[in-house]
Amino acid sequence: MALALQTFATVKDANAALNAAGTRYLGGGTLVVRAANEGDVSISGLIRSTEPSLSTIAVAGDKVRIGASVTMAAIARHPHLGVLAKAARAVGGPAVRNMATVGGNLFAPAPYGDFTVALLALDAIVGTDDGEASIETFLANRDGNRAIVTSVSFTLPKAASFRFLKVSRVKPKGVSVLSIASVLKLALDGTVTSARIALGCMADRPMRAKAAENALIGRSLTKDGIAPALATVNHGTAPATDPIASAWYRNEVLPVHLGRLLLA
Ligand SMILES: Cc1cc2nc3c(=O)[nH]c(=O)nc-3n(C[C@H](O)[C@H](O)[C@H](O)COP(=O)(O)OP(=O)(O)OC[C@H]3O[C@@H](n4cnc5c(N)ncnc54)[C@H](O)[C@@H]3O)c2cc1C
Repeated sequence: MALALQTFATVKDANAALNAAGTRYLGGGTLVVRAANEGDVSISGLIRSTEPSLSTIAVAGDKVRIGASVTMAAIARHPHLGVLAKAARAVGGPAVRNMATVGGNLFAPAPYGDFTVALLALDAIVGTDDGEASIETFLANRDGNRAIVTSVSFTLPKAASFRFLKVSRVKPKGVSVLSIASVLKLALDGTVTSARIALGCMADRPMRAKAAENALIGRSLTKDGIAPALATVNHGTAPATDPIASAWYRNEVLPVHLGRLLLA
C-alpha cells in the first residue's frame, strides 16, 4: 500500500493533518517506518513538521529545552549536555542515533525508551502546542496521545548527582535487558536527601522506583545503606518476557544493577 508523506512548516498545521484517519507523526522514523515496512496497514500516511524550534537545543544556565526532533547523536555531541551523553549513546548504534529523536523515544515501547528513562529521572516537562505535562503524566497517558510533542525541558543535573546505566547482552549497541537512571542529592555527611530513580524495561514503559527512592532517604550510599532500596526496587515492576530476557531474569538482576549504580 502506498504511504503518503506530508511535510508542514508549522506544528499547528501538522497537528491539524494528524486528524485524518491512518496518519502518524514521523520523527526519525526508526520505529514508525519500520512498522509500515513490516506491513502495519493501520499506517496510511506520515506527517512531519519542519518548524525550526523542533530541532533546537537551548541551554540557559541549568535550564535545558530540547526540541522533539533533536536526535540522540545531536545530544551526545552537544558541548553542554555531556552529563546526558551516556544516556543518548545508549540508544542503538550510530546509524540509529543519527535518526532517532527525543520525541520518538518518548513513545518507544519496552525494550526501547532508554533516553526517556533518563528524562523520567530528571523530572522532565513534555511540551505540546496545547501546553505542558510532567513526564510521568505524559507517559501514563501516551497511548491516547495524538498531539505532536514539541519539546522536553528539564533542569540540568550536576554530573555527580546523575547516574545512568543500560544492561544489554550485545555490546555496545544491544537492546536493553533494563536501564536505570537516578538523580540523587546528598547532604554534607553523605546521606541521601532526595532520590529519583527511573527504570526502563521493568514495565511496558519507563517507571519510577518509588519504594526504592523512599528507602534511600537518610541513608548513605554504602552496601548497608542501600540494602533497603535494593530490597524494595522490584515493587510494582511488571517487565515483559521478550527475546532479550525473561520477566523473571529482569526482576532477578534489577537489584544487582541498582546496587552497582548506587555504589559506583
Ligand atoms: C536497530 C534498532 C535499534 C534500536 N535500539 C534502541 C535502543 O537501544 N534504545 C532505545 O531506546 N531505542 C532503540 N530503538 C528504537 C528507536 O530507534 C528509538 O526509540 C528512537 O528514539 C525512536 O525515535 P524515532 O524518532 O525514530 O521515532 P519514530 O519511528 O519516528 O516514531 C515512533 C513513534 O513515536 C511517534 N512520534 C515520534 N515523534 C513524535 C512527536 N514529536 N510527537 C508525537 N509523536 C511522535 C510516531 O508517530 C510513532 O508512533 C532501536 C531501533 C532500531 C530500529
